[in-house]
Amino acid sequence: MDNRNEEKDFRKDFPIFQQEKELIYLDNAATSQRPACVLEAERNFYENTNANPLRGLYELGLEATDAYENARKCVQGFLHAGKAEEIIFTRNTTEALNLVAYSYGLNRLGPGDEILVSIMEHHSNLLPWQMVSRRTGAELKFLECGQDGELTEEQIRKAFTSRTRLTAVTQVSNVFGRENPIKEIVRIAHEHGAVVVADAAQSAPHIPINVQELDVDFLAFSGHKLMAPMGIGVLYGKEELLQDMPPFLTGGEMIERVGRYDAVYAPLPHRFEAGTVNAAGAAALGAAIGYLEGIGWKTLQEREDRLTALALEQMEQIPGIRVLGSRDAGEHCGILTFTVEDVHPHDVASILDADHIAVRAGHHCAQPLMEYLKVPSMVRASISFYNTEEEIRAFTESLSQVRRKMG
Ligand code: PLP
Repeated sequence: MDNRNEEKDFRKDFPIFQQEKELIYLDNAATSQRPACVLEAERNFYENTNANPLRGLYELGLEATDAYENARKCVQGFLHAGKAEEIIFTRNTTEALNLVAYSYGLNRLGPGDEILVSIMEHHSNLLPWQMVSRRTGAELKFLECGQDGELTEEQIRKAFTSRTRLTAVTQVSNVFGRENPIKEIVRIAHEHGAVVVADAAQSAPHIPINVQELDVDFLAFSGHKLMAPMGIGVLYGKEELLQDMPPFLTGGEMIERVGRYDAVYAPLPHRFEAGTVNAAGAAALGAAIGYLEGIGWKTLQEREDRLTALALEQMEQIPGIRVLGSRDAGEHCGILTFTVEDVHPHDVASILDADHIAVRAGHHCAQPLMEYLKVPSMVRASISFYNTEEEIRAFTESLSQVRRKMG
């Protein structure tokens, strides 16, 4: 499988790259592009299986339920979770993290407890914990990293106290692109009796995840960064923790029986999936996982690392460019965040855009990290396996002209 894939032009699988208009898409960390098989899976649901899943007892309704539940099994396999009941479908990472904050955080934490979040968290894995801290009286504390994004065991151990009850850490930072040592963090957290909430929004598209091996308590990711449609996301939670949590949202679908004044909630996982679900999105997420597994992690990572190494090497030769983080391409998961001396990141992005190159500029939804690094904003180019060497060369060529164009 991997041999056949090595020289394959993956761009052919993506309808957006077949259009006339020029596009060098280097904003994959914001959202990825979708291959035809994923779009087909979504369309297939609506064309052939569309009914409200988990409700209709007629044939089509059962087929819709099957499509939805098969997607759950697919995600279970992708994350190596022990049980399908541990997979909750949400809209995105943000909703999954809020589910844990509202349902676990608000009910389990109180004054005297500490919540530990890393300084590099995306706002989606910070604001829910600010809310929990405000409402429960638990203290919010920060795990700081090196200027290159490294979290050492010493730093991690120092940040934990006997009061730490929950730690929220990203598996891969959307700014550094570096993989954090989640397994070690989990080990240290468990020694202190704390649970770990891992944000896998950036890791799920780039590295294999085994929740049982990591022993992580909760883990969240978004379908849209993994080539699936927008509006489908995943929360993994250990069964024993989910069992004890009250529902996050209430209403249809998540109940067993309802009386005038009370209700018996449905068992896992449906207790956490109130209202009509995004079954077409889930089916398409299943197709995206199938597509990715067909390529294989080895091919995918080799291609991404090779393209990232090329970009890094060429960027280093351009005067005035400072790339954040490690010099090792393997420690970037395709993410290269940088500044251009004397040029505002928004101007850099506009100049690249004139050459049809899409990158992101701004604070990357990580304002506390920007403050910590003492930079107001930065540019981020994020590479996927379907990018090409020609695209990387066009990007660095355009980048080399930025300061000249600014006069
Ligand atoms: N966490 C990280 C590390 C991210 O990069 C992102 C999105 O950029 C999110 C969380 C939020 O993802 P979503 O907007 O899909 O909920």
